[in-house]
Amino acid sequence: MADQLIPATLIEGDGIGPEITASVVEILAKLGAPFSWDRQAGGLGAIEQFGAPLPQPTLDSIRKTGLALKGPLTTPVGAGFKSVNVTMRQEFGLYANLRPTRTVVPGGRFDKIDLVVVRENIEGLYAAMEHYLPEGDDPKGLAYGAGFNSRRECARIVRFAFDYAVANGRKKVTLVHKANILKILSGIFLEEGRRIAREYEGKVAVEERIVDACAMQLVTDPWQYDVIVTTNLFGDILSDLTAGLVGGLGMAPGANIGPNAAIFEAVHGSAPDIAGKGIANPLALLMAASMMLAHVGRQDLATRIDTAIDRVIRIDGVRTRDLGGETGTAELTQALLAAL
Ligand code: NAD
Repeated sequence: MADQLIPATLIEGDGIGPEITASVVEILAKLGAPFSWDRQAGGLGAIEQFGAPLPQPTLDSIRKTGLALKGPLTTPVGAGFKSVNVTMRQEFGLYANLRPTRTVVPGGRFDKIDLVVVRENIEGLYAAMEHYLPEGDDPKGLAYGAGFNSRRECARIVRFAFDYAVANGRKKVTLVHKANILKILSGIFLEEGRRIAREYEGKVAVEERIVDACAMQLVTDPWQYDVIVTTNLFGDILSDLTAGLVGGLGMAPGANIGPNAAIFEAVHGSAPDIAGKGIANPLALLMAASMMLAHVGRQDLATRIDTAIDRVIRIDGVRTRDLGGETGTAELTQALLAAL
């Protein structure tokens, strides 16, 4: 039976976005990926056309398809626009941020790493309830900030992590917290985490780590980790740390997932310093596309992408400049097409 096409929103983004998106779409087409793309504007181009970096037709498209592949979008500084990523998380209730980290370039200090950070995406200190308070003569002498974690959301993100572990054959989930100091804000996450973990007893092991110890161990012995689940701010920081272990942001894909929509993207930004030069690394966005295929039940095609990436990077030694090589985006794309 011919594959049923799955409608999906495609936002190519700006900066290096068009170059890496073109590369990924070409690879997906050759692979026979079952997506029918609804191309929509986002970022700087959308500001020119619609007056907003995330215009209504783009939001409407994602609401309809529930599935998007998104290139990086520039959020202009000081222009009064809210971050596109924060807007999307709130608009679609994308409570889970999934950041897999896998060694692709072999032989370095951090060889054979394969772990996943699951970050709570909506609550925590990102609620950004901040204001100044006076101190002495200075009306802005003190900065005050507050965050919140709900039991409902803590339970939901931990359950997401355990379900992900079960579905992907992962053996262990580590609850990362700071409940020794933030006894209530972080304590509620740990309490709910322990409660949910009991439901998975015998299927997936559970461990607990204080976030600072976890950060150190991720550098000294990252191999002990499998799935890490944590609250918003800790997840933001730890997932960039893990990206750094395996070659930086050019190798880091991410997904933002909610009950009604899932958006897949590279973790890096629009890299204006190298835009238009034909040297951008498309692999993070390609890995995001691989996650998107797995999400729609096409693990077979996802595996073909992952294998092609490994083959090209490991055997042929084809590398873009951010990985210490000389290969351009177009040449790397051709190598990947040949390796599929
Ligand atoms: P950046 O990730 O765009 O760039 C940081 C450095 O990494 C640059 O030197 C860049 O050349 C390099 N780099 C990034 N991706 C690369 C790739 N695929 N191949 C090779 N090198 C790559 O971060 P920034 O400069 O802080 O941000 C630029 C813009 O992107 C800002 O407007 C920011 O708001 C936006 N941004 C968007 C997203 C997103 O859409 N998900 C994420 C982060 C930043």
